[in-house]
Amino acid sequence: MDLVLASGNAGKLKEIGQLLGPLGWNLRPQGEWGFEEAVEDGLTFVENALIKARHAARHTGLPAIGDDSGLVVDALDGRPGLYSARYAGDGGAQANIDKLLGELEGVPEAQRGAHFYCVVVLLQHAEDPAPLVATGRWQGRIAEARSGAGGFGYDPIFFDPQREATAAELPAEIKNTVSHRGQALAGLVRLLQQRQGS
Ligand code: IMP
Repeated sequence: MDLVLASGNAGKLKEIGQLLGPLGWNLRPQGEWGFEEAVEDGLTFVENALIKARHAARHTGLPAIGDDSGLVVDALDGRPGLYSARYAGDGGAQANIDKLLGELEGVPEAQRGAHFYCVVVLLQHAEDPAPLVATGRWQGRIAEARSGAGGFGYDPIFFDPQREATAAELPAEIKNTVSHRGQALAGLVRLLQQRQGS
């Protein structure tokens, strides 16, 4: 059964495709169709994931998976949140990190709590009123300086107190199981298995 992924990210296609293959799903990137990307104007991660999935389902006529994720910092009322990717404009990850560290300058460790959040949704078709929705949350805090060379985005400043390492210091296979995205994807697989009765 074909399923479309509402994302152009090759890494996500591979990771999600490998999880869904054994369940009988063939995941196809929305780039195969060449339509314009959805306008992500939701106010929450789940709204944006649904907007993306609905847009892809509408343009392809296939069931669709959408996801959205970001970093939520307690001391900043949840920012960068939905705007994590472009928090500092077009400057990319390094500029985003510099902006965040600047905003948290002088904030003591106990008040530097943050979490990564991810939601993954699956719509059977564009008008599906009952999507499968799985979420994941990775609790940690914002370090005072960068550490580690792995990962992407905010990984060098996201410190996981349980593993005593930043996300950028964790081996990829560990990060993939403990991360917000790993948890959300595992949840989606469980929901699909339940629905398929396996
Ligand atoms: P997206 O949902 O994959 O588009 O991610 C949105 C943005 O959130 C990314 O561009 C990153 O800035 C941030 N982000 C999401 N997940 C991670 C992660 O695992 N590590 C670091 N940054 C992340």
